[in-house]
Amino acid sequence: MIQKTIASPISIEGIGAHSGRKSRVNILPAPEDQGIIFVRTDVGEDNSISSDFANVSETTLCTRLSNKSGVSVSMVEHVSAALYGFQISNATIEVDGEEIPILDGSSAVFVKEITSVGIVAQSKKRKCLRILKNVKIGDEGRWSSLSPADRLVLNLSCDFSKKGLKTTPFSYDFSKGNFETEIAPARTFGFFDDVEYLRKNKLALGSSLENTVVFDAKGNAMNDDGLRFDNEPIRHKMLDIIGDLSLSGHMIIGQYDGVCSGHTLNNMLLHALFSSPQSYTIE
Ligand SMILES: [Zn+2]
Repeated sequence: MIQKTIASPISIEGIGAHSGRKSRVNILPAPEDQGIIFVRTDVGEDNSISSDFANVSETTLCTRLSNKSGVSVSMVEHVSAALYGFQISNATIEVDGEEIPILDGSSAVFVKEITSVGIVAQSKKRKCLRILKNVKIGDEGRWSSLSPADRLVLNLSCDFSKKGLKTTPFSYDFSKGNFETEIAPARTFGFFDDVEYLRKNKLALGSSLENTVVFDAKGNAMNDDGLRFDNEPIRHKMLDIIGDLSLSGHMIIGQYDGVCSGHTLNNMLLHALFSSPQSYTIE
């Protein structure tokens, strides 16, 4: 596998789901071996944060990365998933605020812009992270694991039955599937009975039906335009997992299994994997 970057810069503006504040994101081509780096252009010094699981400082509602000076960027998972989905290994993501804009709640806008500028193959080989032994984290009701496989395959099941939503397990084979059409358009979702709590705690200030699928107590989508997929929520969970796993810094060769897993478990899983040297090799 060859390293890749984007052919020319991309610029996108939007509001943050949690802060409600506007920010602009510029995704820039980057040299070989750089990896994915976030840069806070509104901060003067020590403003870069590498897209690395070890830099994850918060996993409630979204994934936040922070550097040693405490400079942070939130909501990194949807742009990270878009880059990983296209197997882009080098890019600089500038943002002039603390949060990557939510846009339509999915990775679709990032995917559209990346597709329009194009992807460039660089000359060096991209390193792969091969899983050698099973690593599992969590408990009976909520867990995630990585195990050996010949390619990246992700299996997920979620239970939203208490919220009136029926979900069936969903799998995505990274080498056979189409990230652009099957995963990227799936939007962030929430439940109407959680809205009051979020508002009271000054969370999700920028969330609206423009960027979030909201389900009522009967499990019906309240958005005028309905759902993009019958199983849009679990597809969005898959998108988040891809974004979270991208923080491993490498293309993973292995199988991911998750039951009700989210950002917190995914980050704990990468910590568990990398603290167990016999469980993986980088080749
Ligand atoms: Zn998400």
